[in-house]
Amino acid sequence: MKNNGTSKRAGEERPRRLLLCLDGVPLPVMQAAKGRGLFDNFNKPSRLLSPFPTMTNIALSTMMRASAPLGYESLYFDRNTREMRGGVGKYIGRRTPDKVPSSYMDELDYQEPLPFEYLVYVAPEMVWRADMRRFRERFRQAPQTRDYFAFLKGTDGLLHIRGRERLDVALESLDKILREIQKSCGTETEIVVFSDHGMNLEENRRVHLQTHLRKRGYELAEKFDRRASRRVALPAFGLIGFSALYCADEEAASTLADSLVELEGVDFSLFREGKDVVVVRGERGKERIHRRQRDGGETFYRYEQIENDPLQLGGIASALSAEGLTDGEGFASGEAWLARTSDHVYPDALENLYQSLQGERVRHPADVLVSLKDGYYYGSSIFSRFVRLAATHGNAMLSSTSAFMMSTHRQLPEAIRASQAQPILRA
Ligand SMILES: [Zn+2]
Repeated sequence: MKNNGTSKRAGEERPRRLLLCLDGVPLPVMQAAKGRGLFDNFNKPSRLLSPFPTMTNIALSTMMRASAPLGYESLYFDRNTREMRGGVGKYIGRRTPDKVPSSYMDELDYQEPLPFEYLVYVAPEMVWRADMRRFRERFRQAPQTRDYFAFLKGTDGLLHIRGRERLDVALESLDKILREIQKSCGTETEIVVFSDHGMNLEENRRVHLQTHLRKRGYELAEKFDRRASRRVALPAFGLIGFSALYCADEEAASTLADSLVELEGVDFSLFREGKDVVVVRGERGKERIHRRQRDGGETFYRYEQIENDPLQLGGIASALSAEGLTDGEGFASGEAWLARTSDHVYPDALENLYQSLQGERVRHPADVLVSLKDGYYYGSSIFSRFVRLAATHGNAMLSSTSAFMMSTHRQLPEAIRASQAQPILRA
């Protein structure tokens, strides 16, 4: 385990920690489990806001303040060479140091063995049981004087493929294991259990993005230069609630976002406008998110409605202004927006959506990011042929955004942005 210098010494200045990340377990599922008497040694779970697109690598690299992964998924478009890279072949069996998608992986003391990576979506119960046994064994042998960080991926597969009931069974077995661990480690070990993203627990339909774009006169390409204004690269990988599109330039991005408005399943599209603006375009209208950074580093956002109110934030913007929390130009602090929108239909939308394109969530950000409505997915047609999708995640809505975090020793704040998680986990 790396000690980043700022953290206190585990087991001496503070209790040693077991950090246990459960892939894809939504806050309401954990709240319900606690309601049934499971995990009753833990304090109330907080809402951990997973960054958009709500995917494991993006969430964990943001949470651990680690290096940004190359793309949103292992198949991505390289903005420098302007061609598609990665994919299944690059994914299976290559979790070697030079291929690590983000440096958070260096911090993991336990993650599932490589052959499980795909098997988890085919035989999730088997993988979950074997994975949990192995984690318990490894943790038992670990020195008591260091923190231990484990990532269990089986929960994500269980939800995607089997749905909520099977996850509830899995959580019962996890509860037993954590009770055993608590009994043998005592209060000298703090356990922090959390997830990386939430999940929309309804059956999902495929969005016909490629067909739609071809009908609209676009050519789908794996490689193209900046002069090709009607060419689009559109990586299709996991079956998830967002899509990343790459095109010639900002002007092409705006036209592309317009052409997606009527497609069934699309909630809204995002694209950059210059250095400080992200535009939101959906069937309900259009708006701009403006950001400004003051001296001292505090960040302010303004919601500019151009046509209607696609993110349903008009009322909150007016309330902030009525309470005197906006400046003369309508900017309110990121913290004020967070306090009023952490359980909104689009949680913490201004900072979250702005950062998804203007921040550094991945090294090769898309030109257009599409957030699908709950109940819809986009992804590889090969995967969708052998998988019936009981649930998925990836969009910017409440269910996918609502991960959780809870501790045996501390009551954590009601809402935690992913970018605020690192000091809670490590300091
Ligand atoms: Zn997943």
